[in-house]
Amino acid sequence: MIPTTQPIPEKLSRLPELAYNLWWSWTPEARTLFKQLDYPLWRSTKHNPVQILQQITPDRLVRRAADASFLRQYRKVMVKFDKEMQDNDGWFNTTYPAKKEKTIAYFSFEFGLHSSLPIYSGGLGILSGDHAKEASDLQLPFVGVGFMYPQGYFRQRIPSHGWQEAVYQQLDMDKAPILPAADANGEPLNISVQMGDHKVYARVWQVRVGRISLYLLDTDVEENSPWDRELSARLYSGDRETRIRQEILLGVGGVRVLRALGINPAVWHMNEGHSAFLTLELIREKVAAGMAYDDALAQVKFHAAFTTHTPVPAGHDTFNFQMVENYFNGFWDEMGISREQFLSLGAHQEAWGTAFNMTVLAMHTAEYINGVSALHAKVSREMWQGIWPDTAVDNIPIIPITNGIHVPGWVASENDALFKKYLGKQWRKQHDQEAIWGKLDDISDKKLWKRHVILKNKLLSFLRERTRRRWVARQLDPTQAMTNGMLIDPDALTIGFARRFATYKRATLIFRDFERIKRILLDTHRPVQLIFAGKSHPADDPGKSLIQQVYNWAKENQLGGRVAFIEDYDIQMARYLTQGVDVWLNTPRLPREASGTSGMKATLNGIPNLSILDGWWAEGYNGANGWAIGGKQFDDEREQDEYDANSLYQLIEDEIVPLYYTRDSDGIPRGWAKIMREAIRTNVPAFSMKRMVKEYTTKIYIPAMGGDRV
Ligand SMILES: *Cc1c(COP(=O)(O)O)cnc(C)c1O
Repeated sequence: MIPTTQPIPEKLSRLPELAYNLWWSWTPEARTLFKQLDYPLWRSTKHNPVQILQQITPDRLVRRAADASFLRQYRKVMVKFDKEMQDNDGWFNTTYPAKKEKTIAYFSFEFGLHSSLPIYSGGLGILSGDHAKEASDLQLPFVGVGFMYPQGYFRQRIPSHGWQEAVYQQLDMDKAPILPAADANGEPLNISVQMGDHKVYARVWQVRVGRISLYLLDTDVEENSPWDRELSARLYSGDRETRIRQEILLGVGGVRVLRALGINPAVWHMNEGHSAFLTLELIREKVAAGMAYDDALAQVKFHAAFTTHTPVPAGHDTFNFQMVENYFNGFWDEMGISREQFLSLGAHQEAWGTAFNMTVLAMHTAEYINGVSALHAKVSREMWQGIWPDTAVDNIPIIPITNGIHVPGWVASENDALFKKYLGKQWRKQHDQEAIWGKLDDISDKKLWKRHVILKNKLLSFLRERTRRRWVARQLDPTQAMTNGMLIDPDALTIGFARRFATYKRATLIFRDFERIKRILLDTHRPVQLIFAGKSHPADDPGKSLIQQVYNWAKENQLGGRVAFIEDYDIQMARYLTQGVDVWLNTPRLPREASGTSGMKATLNGIPNLSILDGWWAEGYNGANGWAIGGKQFDDEREQDEYDANSLYQLIEDEIVPLYYTRDSDGIPRGWAKIMREAIRTNVPAFSMKRMVKEYTTKIYIPAMGGDRV
């Protein structure tokens, strides 16, 4: 049942259904519909149709229902919606008709779907959200399992001293596009999990993402003690104890959610090791049904897939044995194994001693393992060689499947219209096919450039409006208003850098030689400006220190207002930034950027990358579609930074600035437009979520269902 706070006119009766299916968010016609329903509300709710329907005046609704052109638009959207929700002529159904009754279960700690549902922190969550959206577009039999965090990840505030502050806000569940999930009998779905000496209960929320559903666990229920009610309140904020409890809830509880729904997946995909306890629950189920442990493990393994996401050791969850024992004492009996056998499933030598490592557990219990780029898979094979002591490193079964982005969700509507016109109406369905992108040649430099200028201005007005609102709300002092981008110049070459502030991403590399960057930024005729955004994990002081350094450069009068730090990076800001800057910068310490995806979003909108050849860019760069920083490897980090910074400055001074500012008589930078076009043509099909989900399907999902391994 869809709750509404007010009656919806009969003629528009399906608006709530549409508002509660995030399909609207990547469908331009549906976005336009909600925008036209009430534009001021569209803006003030940050594009949240659930809230628009709650706040719109009855009078306005009645007038909309009497507006013939609005009704036409509404009917058109609903026809499209029904077609896309019900037709079975999509890729999966036509390619694997014999497999359509199977289910792929996808477990992730976070899902980044829309700003109205803040249950993600960064790249991992965005990837999960995009994976779910594309699973719908390709018609995969797919279901997601995760958490509903009422306080989500934190909102970032940067006071004028520059030290990031974390603000947690309680999400009003009524205003989010979530509904209570019902079990097979139509009753509200609840599950419980044994957690040490007592049971923890959870209710379950359902999110509709096109054709598929996500089920989100929430422990804020009366049956739980206050401590347990808080268990799923926040993403990544607790200590180790909270973390293991969250992971038990996701892994063990998540399996129980699917069972209660009557869903019996043929594939269990663990996105990161957080959910790896699920394989233990699956083994326990089989042993309880009478199977021997070895057979149970073999069967579970056959159907399990694991994606690892980082080559940084601290990015892999570990728990000390004592903690694992406290929670799993007795569980191993139910699995038919000893304590030692149980602990050895996750045992790994860490810097501080032997511990239980979730990546190791996942690798021991999943047949299908992959890294998220070619380079990352290679580094992972070396990193986890110890798990396969008898296998040569090149034969270790960690395959690469490079990440991608959900193209319909990240494309600017202006570009969507352009691609539709030049590549054909079907471009959204065929965007992973290289051939269609040849037609980009028909788009003139002038068109490409003019459209970019429009998007750049949209970004700048977004920043101004945001700052203005905060100013009015007395959240900013004058200095903060400056640092948040008030001095940004629409005509200056603009370099964007927005991502998590972790030290390996080296956000301050570009400031390494102050006099040199100052010269670059302040050039009278050919100025350059830098826009930064990004959060640091609340416990990561070195990361926060980088934010503070960048923030201080943004305050520095000597840099002439050419540096901005926009606080509180989120999915909406990511959209504006990856559509509106001129160049997308990334400076990770090789090879720690497993993939990176923000640069892919930029190329989709014609913004070339300027990046270290790490992660996806090592595959994406072709010499003519952007720029590669560095190229030489040093053992010493200072030497490396020195070399990479120098390379970065040289590229900006010798190539990027001249190319950007060389205009023809119409004011069009011809050379620049060529790079923009090449970036779109080569990067979009290769780094699309469509290509990625198809690859997961053929290489992992189909074989794990018992089909042929491709
Ligand atoms: C895309 C995205 C990310 C991931 O960016 P990386 O390039 O992988 O660091 C993080 N946060 C948000 C909000 C995003 O949209």
